[in-house]
Amino acid sequence: MSIGTESLWHPFAAMESVKRSQTVITRAEDVWIWDAAGTRYLDATASLWYANAGHGRREIADAVTAQLGRLDAYHLFTDFANEPALALADALAARAPMADAKVFLTSGGGDSIDTAAKIARAHFALTGQPDRTILLHREHSYHGTHGLGTSLAGIPGNRVAPPFVPDVVQTAWNDAEMLEETLRELGPERIAAFFCEPVIGAGGVLPPPPGYIEAAAQVCARHGVLFVADAVICGFGRLGDWFGVDRFGITPDLVTFAKGVTSGVQPLGGVLASGAVAAPFWDTPGTVLRHGQTYSGHPVACAAGLATVELYERDGLFARADALEGPLLQRLQGLADHPLVTEARGGTGFLGALELVPDRPGITGRVANAVREHGVIIRPMVSALGFSPPLTATEDHLDQLAEAVRKGLDQVA
Ligand code: PLP
Repeated sequence: MSIGTESLWHPFAAMESVKRSQTVITRAEDVWIWDAAGTRYLDATASLWYANAGHGRREIADAVTAQLGRLDAYHLFTDFANEPALALADALAARAPMADAKVFLTSGGGDSIDTAAKIARAHFALTGQPDRTILLHREHSYHGTHGLGTSLAGIPGNRVAPPFVPDVVQTAWNDAEMLEETLRELGPERIAAFFCEPVIGAGGVLPPPPGYIEAAAQVCARHGVLFVADAVICGFGRLGDWFGVDRFGITPDLVTFAKGVTSGVQPLGGVLASGAVAAPFWDTPGTVLRHGQTYSGHPVACAAGLATVELYERDGLFARADALEGPLLQRLQGLADHPLVTEARGGTGFLGALELVPDRPGITGRVANAVREHGVIIRPMVSALGFSPPLTATEDHLDQLAEAVRKGLDQVA
């Protein structure tokens, strides 16, 4: 059912048409969502890449309700803490891919990107390398839409409202040798951090070429550049592990996360910093990182996070993601013969994409709308269709997805 709006300004929306026609979602359960007319859809995007545990999980709702009854809200500034924030930080640090991790909690992914960038630059300022200010990012990357995230955008269309933050340099998305060349040209002693989504998500689901992540991490380590794994999409099971890098066997210096930490039920994000990166802040008397958000470590969000972490482990959902990544890619490859499809991508985590022909502007949106008419929600991206179902999906759901996508493609062809 479509209704209009007088006032709600949607993100990433052409409001001139959206103001007349919105899809109002009223209910969600496991892999399903319902609109206001009662039509049911398969949520093949896990909302915005986050409902990893499936919608409507009682365990998370109960934890939120119980926390609301105990302590509804209190901040973390200066020496204040709350029990869920302490417990969640311990739980995440224990699962972190780096030693002695410290956990800075935020309100979401964009906050986490800003936080990681500031920690990186401030770390070097405190350790006698104040010239290390440059932030490197990859083409096609998406790091949110805050000021820093917009400056780090590798999706050209997302680079809106310049001027951008200075000292940000883009590098190729798939070439570690070029990364090292860029470093040498700029002068490694001027580089603070390299931001890297293990699998590029919103930029088109681009799995890294074999060996790329490992080689890029080595390049950074060789030149003293901090490796920031942006696990906002890739974490919490999407790549079959906690923070999206375990499968590559690398040790990042910083990790940004959000979305799946609460399966999207509460807005929460954060940054893991290795003990070495955090040390100047943690061990030097009087040193303060003058940074944080009102909702950093919000007790209700953290209670949701703790319940979600428990759920992932109890239900073995990451193993499920591992088991489903091949079958998803297989379904997408089965659609690669379609005249509108130029490539099927996936196989590194439970997410995938179909690249569509380049000469039909707006085609991804049209196909996504057509697929929706067949009961499945998929994500139109710049030039590809994206798929990232909840980790609770089954192969039957993947069959339904493939069938609806073929019908949608046929309809638009
Ligand atoms: N980083 C990545 C890789 C993302 O995909 C996103 C959002 O999709 C962000 C950062 C920004 O997160 P948020 O939208 O919570 O600010």
